Amino acid sequence: KQKLAVERESRRPGVSFEFFPPKTAQGVQNLYERMDRMHSLGPAFIDITWGAGGRLSELTCKMVSVAQSVYGLETCMHLTCTDMPQEKVDAALQAAYDAGCTNILALRGDPPREREKWEATKGGFRYAKDLVKYIRGKYGNHFDIGVGGYPEGCDDNPDVDLLIDHLKEKVDAGSSFVITQMFYDVDNFLSWEQKCRDRGIDCPIIPGIMPIHTYAAFIRRSNWTKIRIPPGWLEALEPVKNDDAAVRKIGKDLVADMCKKLLQSGIYHLHFYTMNLAQSTRMIMEDLKLMPSEEMPLQKPLPWRQSLGLR
Ligand code: FAD
Repeated sequence: KQKLAVERESRRPGVSFEFFPPKTAQGVQNLYERMDRMHSLGPAFIDITWGAGGRLSELTCKMVSVAQSVYGLETCMHLTCTDMPQEKVDAALQAAYDAGCTNILALRGDPPREREKWEATKGGFRYAKDLVKYIRGKYGNHFDIGVGGYPEGCDDNPDVDLLIDHLKEKVDAGSSFVITQMFYDVDNFLSWEQKCRDRGIDCPIIPGIMPIHTYAAFIRRSNWTKIRIPPGWLEALEPVKNDDAAVRKIGKDLVADMCKKLLQSGIYHLHFYTMNLAQSTRMIMEDLKLMPSEEMPLQKPLPWRQSLGLR
């Protein structure tokens, strides 16, 4: 552990990028090209979200396979319980396995758009922890299994302490890392992380960072996830809300500052919700001096499992 700490100090902190399956074939092609370009930013891994039902979930499997085996990106596949009887879970896991993917983010899933409340599928799984247990049982240690964490509560459960209990169950069921829901309140995240540690959750906890692309999207996503907006942020962004370039610039300053605070507090990996866009993430990374350079070349980050203390 001490050796790891020393090595960490001399290396670039890890970053990872989340993408989601686009709706059109042209969108998919454009995204592959963007993912390939963003490869040069040196992500420790990229992940592809799971779109519930039909075409979108097939596309997740396809994109995982292309990212992993064609573009050579270390890829993590999201997998949810929504509308997924066990046979479909089996097929998705087999596809990930065949593609050489060794990372799964196991989630309960959002309810499908047409339904307000989440309902279990007959012959499927109820909670993310059931999915974690199933994957561990079937594949042993082949996959590193991540789960979602909620520093400010989640859609159907605002009780943060109860969610920490449920997070502990997911870790006990065999997950080896946590990625959090987006947040902007760093102090709250740090005290939540401490609570997780006090509760015995000792695996890596990776903060989820949502860059600010436009004012409307910033407000919509903050409202949708019911997260706190720190004092001063609205005052800084609201006056330029119709100027996307100015919003991106001020938003970059705000988010880069929060990332600096996270890194200073010992957090060693930042997970970016790219929303399939490169620019805002790139701007934050430039500000944080995380762009690969001669002094910090691409091979500098530790392999992601090692940097997070995984097997
Ligand atoms: P769980 O941990 O299973 O919790 C679901 C609910 O059940 C919570 O209210 C929890 O408190 C409750 N619960 C858990 N265990 C118990 C228990 N033992 N007894 C009683 N209640 C219990 N959604 C998608 O559809 N696709 C994606 O790709 C996707 N990616 C995501 C990535 C990240 C990093 C995060 C944080 C979320 C993502 N989501 C995604 C959203 C996620 O699916 C929803 O937030 C969902 O509502 C909760 O999922 P979970 O895995 O945290 O569920």
